Amino acid sequence: MGDGYTLGSVGEWNDRFDALVRLGKERFGLEVRYKESSGFMRFLGWILFFVEGFMDQYTTTIGRRVWFPTRDEVVRLPRKHFRILAHELIHMERSRGFRGIGYTIRYLFPQILAPLALLSLLAFVSQWWLFCLLFLTALLPWPAPGRADEEAWGYAMTTVVESWQYGRPWDGKTIPPWIQAQFDGWSYYRMAWEWEPVRGKIERYAGKMEADTTWTMVHTIRLIAQGGPEFARQMLRGV
Ligand SMILES: [Zn+2]
Repeated sequence: MGDGYTLGSVGEWNDRFDALVRLGKERFGLEVRYKESSGFMRFLGWILFFVEGFMDQYTTTIGRRVWFPTRDEVVRLPRKHFRILAHELIHMERSRGFRGIGYTIRYLFPQILAPLALLSLLAFVSQWWLFCLLFLTALLPWPAPGRADEEAWGYAMTTVVESWQYGRPWDGKTIPPWIQAQFDGWSYYRMAWEWEPVRGKIERYAGKMEADTTWTMVHTIRLIAQGGPEFARQMLRGV
């Protein structure tokens, strides 16, 4: 597989991106949206004031909906957005392994405990309920092991897809520093305080994605990323 082949033009990558959207639709009922035209996302950006660039740099997924910042950017940089969407699809794939809102609770723990502080309103029954105010401490940026683990899956996908796109072998030593910053910075509310265990996980998960050809979704993403424009066109025709 020559490099010119995997690199492809912007037009070809637009096709491959569309093929990936189609995979997401068929598998998860994916809906693609844009933050630029979403009042809800503006509201969320206001709550998540500590996430710099929430509106114009981050893609957000809730359930089967994915919000990219703007449509223009997606069309202009399809290869980058292909990686981002593949990352989000891994979240959707993983969430299938949990019952109900199990994945969401795991992802938002421990901060999700904070609303339990509302139980303190029962203080009129007994003042002991006031101890529930302690749940407010869950709002602090504690490490979030569930979230860090799921993002290790996500960023493993990001880096593996990049190596497929550029036709080079995946190399765990080249996880770029911007990815480490996602884990110990504020973007995900400081979900991991130590980088080394996370790095080990990303390496392990990426290795699984590289080696496991029975993992249908990952394998299909690989074929779209590596298989050239013809494969993407076939996908879009539904062949
Ligand atoms: Zn993610």
